[in-house]
Amino acid sequence: MRTEQIALSPLAPGASLSLIAQRFGEAGARPQVYVQASLHADEIPGMIAAHHLRERLTALEAEGRIKGEIVLVPAANPIGLAQRVLGDHIGRFNLADGVNFNRGYPHLVPKVAERIEGKLTGDGEANLRLIREALGAELDAWEAGNPAEVMKKALLTLAIGADIVLDMHCDSEAVTHLYTHTRSAEALAPLSALLGARAYLLAEESGDEPFDEACSRPWAELADRFPDQPIPFGCHSATLEFRGERDVTHELARADAAALVDFLTLRGVISGETPEVPEPLCEPTPLAASEPVTAPATGIVVFRADVGDQVKAGDVIAEIIDPHTGAAANATAGTDGVMFARILLRFATQGMRLAKVAGTKATRTGKLLSA
Ligand SMILES: [Zn+2]
Repeated sequence: MRTEQIALSPLAPGASLSLIAQRFGEAGARPQVYVQASLHADEIPGMIAAHHLRERLTALEAEGRIKGEIVLVPAANPIGLAQRVLGDHIGRFNLADGVNFNRGYPHLVPKVAERIEGKLTGDGEANLRLIREALGAELDAWEAGNPAEVMKKALLTLAIGADIVLDMHCDSEAVTHLYTHTRSAEALAPLSALLGARAYLLAEESGDEPFDEACSRPWAELADRFPDQPIPFGCHSATLEFRGERDVTHELARADAAALVDFLTLRGVISGETPEVPEPLCEPTPLAASEPVTAPATGIVVFRADVGDQVKAGDVIAEIIDPHTGAAANATAGTDGVMFARILLRFATQGMRLAKVAGTKATRTGKLLSA
């Protein structure tokens, strides 16, 4: 393992800030994989999965079994890690401006398209290299405007040239689920099965430029812009949601790390016997079919459905009880599907999103992710 320390902008004079990247395998070897944990800094299940993954990778490297290069950032958000307000860890939003740490990555496609115009050929591999170079150059030219953007730029710089990007998160209370680009559905299906995911959510664009899409979308959009030349899908990326915030145990994290190692073995990044891929626990479904269950009133939340439950449209997901009158209103599912996540709070205001159900019929448009 080679450790690299990347200096970031100080948040205040004298307050130094840096990222730690840990590299396995030979520098520049392919396939290249980028894995990061806890971009939302208070989401620790990914961080402990990274801890177990590092142990596995260290052992595999000692056996000479890492054929590509794997870059691991075990704590991707040092700004968020230091944010505490009245005892609570605030890791999702930058306290300085309220911006979500997993939104607002640069959309490099228009400028990359200009840069490669007239230079593409009939050689797909050469086009891949040309586009990777152009993506790197355009990212390099991005003028980050504040410390959080400097950090985002440093993370994306580590990831942008990789063949596979895995961004490890968690939800509030949840079963394992993942998000990826529609055109990566097949390539990442074994990963979904190995992780035992209960929802596998696909979108071409989910809105507000999350990290995983900054890595994957350029390949889809450039292939569409230049249909006459072969452009392979250069980066399969996914946001992995390792259950709920409190699901931090060695057993779960060891299993998650093992699933990642198996997937990387399937992809030829790690050498070894071809692992067996279990039957998937879910089919891929459009993110646009994933429906929030909202609170019909303000009051005490008493959940009637647990995460992982298969529900039907109209099923009661939670009761909302008015603390003064005792009146109970039912929050119901709008679609059939798996209720894969729910909130941690137990008091809701009217209209608040309480849970998410992975339906199969795409009905939503616009921004598909929660704030
Ligand atoms: Zn997250």
